[in-house]
Amino acid sequence: MIQQFDSLLQMMEAFPDEQTCVDHLRAIRWKNGAYCPHCGSTKVYHFSDKLSHKCGDCRQRFSIKVGTIFEDTKLPLRKWFIAIWLITSHKKGIASTQLAKDLKITQKSAWFVLHRLRYAARTQSFAAPLEGDVEVDETYVGGKAKNKHGGRSGGGSGVAGKAIVMGAVERNGGVVASVVPNTDRETMEEFVDNAISPKVTSVSTDEHQGYRRLALKYPHGTVHHSKKEYVVGNTHTQTIDGYWSQLKRQIIGIHHFVSKKHLGRYVAESSWRYNRRHVGEGERVNALMANATGRLTYKALIA
Ligand SMILES: [Zn+2]
Repeated sequence: MIQQFDSLLQMMEAFPDEQTCVDHLRAIRWKNGAYCPHCGSTKVYHFSDKLSHKCGDCRQRFSIKVGTIFEDTKLPLRKWFIAIWLITSHKKGIASTQLAKDLKITQKSAWFVLHRLRYAARTQSFAAPLEGDVEVDETYVGGKAKNKHGGRSGGGSGVAGKAIVMGAVERNGGVVASVVPNTDRETMEEFVDNAISPKVTSVSTDEHQGYRRLALKYPHGTVHHSKKEYVVGNTHTQTIDGYWSQLKRQIIGIHHFVSKKHLGRYVAESSWRYNRRHVGEGERVNALMANATGRLTYKALIA
């Protein structure tokens, strides 16, 4: 059984020490039975220290943290659990400087913890493919917000020094967002094709030239923002605008600046939270833990 909790206090009471945290991770990661992180074998022996296991096939010894974002961490799991609570429950996430103070760890260590948690949030499959009424838009992050839509001609690599993020949101549903290299028609269409289902009821965009051929595949409506036209019947981009302002409040308000290199992870963090905005806070913590498979090393992060 997987332990449930709905406040930070309750979570800390449920997991008073390292062993209860380990037991919780095991309950989540092995909810369909124990398996070896090295070879996948389900022939797993449990040692009496309650922390280590051995594979009956490849003979390797391992803990529940092996093969996850927690592998090799020197921090107690309780600190990780608090970090997970904070990043999943605060609408704008948390700054590494703040987390460092809250957990009494160095800022470097807090920064690494948060990036590993963003790495766990990277999976986009939760929301895609979007159906129903969908809004698609692109936005620029970093630098000055001048000339947001890249001009009449479309295409090009956007505004100097800025990163381009594309997003698609299902009204009353989930969001899919990612950093794209440019606003060429091919790039934008590829994003749309991956994010939305061919069965969508409608697709709303602005007048960017990259969207001009969407009508060949989807029921596509356009609003002309340059003519101050924002809503035409069912066609508008107000839901995705709401998501963009949330993303920008996170990036500008909390982190002040995010390098292009790491932007994708911040976008993953924000869309992960958005897609679980109606889910209880404790459930969000467990959901992120369930996604902890995989490793992001410090070396890879700063490379
Ligand atoms: Zn094995």
